[in-house]
Amino acid sequence: MQSVDLHTHSTVSDGLLAPAELARRAHRNQADLWALTDHDELGGVNEARTTADELGLRFVAGVEISVSWTDDLPIHVLGLNVDEHNSALQHGLAVVREGRDARAHRIADELLRFGVEDAYQGALKHAGNPSLISRSHFARYLAEKGFATDIHSVFDNWLAQGKRGYVEHAWATLPDALEWIHNSGGVSVLAHPGRYRLSASGLRKLVEKFKELGGMGIEVISGSQSMEATRVCASLARRFELMASCGSDYHGPGESWIDLGKVPQLPDGLQPVWNSFR
Ligand code: AMP
Ligand code: MN
Ligand code: MN
Ligand code: MN
Repeated sequence: MQSVDLHTHSTVSDGLLAPAELARRAHRNQADLWALTDHDELGGVNEARTTADELGLRFVAGVEISVSWTDDLPIHVLGLNVDEHNSALQHGLAVVREGRDARAHRIADELLRFGVEDAYQGALKHAGNPSLISRSHFARYLAEKGFATDIHSVFDNWLAQGKRGYVEHAWATLPDALEWIHNSGGVSVLAHPGRYRLSASGLRKLVEKFKELGGMGIEVISGSQSMEATRVCASLARRFELMASCGSDYHGPGESWIDLGKVPQLPDGLQPVWNSFR
């Protein structure tokens, strides 16, 4: 039995803890293998690795890339065990990040129409990294202003697809994201497939295309999807011969369903993605 957590966020994207604090928490929670996977950003990897090394914790450099599956359906692809110095990967991520500021202004404009003032500045204050301003930062601002009791209900009422503050946005394409990851020596993993607004056949099509484009793994256990989704993802992993990954999707105390390093074991009969890390 070992504890593996290959999906976590720091203040470099929309997490609440700095990379070094995550490393210490992973160590305290007895993780054996931990990956930092900030959204569209590798800026926390150095600090995370340095602290993990000091603690004797096995660390994997990662990133969670925002991808447009269709115009109105964003998905997330993890790059695990990437080379954070790879220039094509860095450049691709920089381009994805560039769109975020303009999107944040559009979100704030929408929110203003519904009576939420100063949302751009308010969200920015919550962003540890201004180039990574995200809906999570808007959620924290709206909760702080009393528009909802916690950040999950802010999403349900304001920021989820189709809600008042939601705007469409063009992220990376799936072929580009996969190419950046593979070129940098990384392993590509489709993140939390159970969370997308897709029918069973829609999800199957996505996984089929992911595999066809060279995608390597699928997140079978995720803190942001249900146990029912685990069963579905395990069967997709077997059917499409994809490696299996698992992660808490930890964002910080009070905001995540699974604590860092407390991820359940993978179901039997799957190929753990970490066996492929050199
Ligand atoms: P963005 O990349 O700016 O669109 O923000 C996406 C992030 O918002 C995700 O990575 C989650 O951290 C967060 N998020 C999305 N939906 C929810 C939800 N229903 N509850 C809590 N957080 C969510
Ligand atoms: Mn997030
Ligand atoms: Mn995600
Ligand atoms: Mn995530």
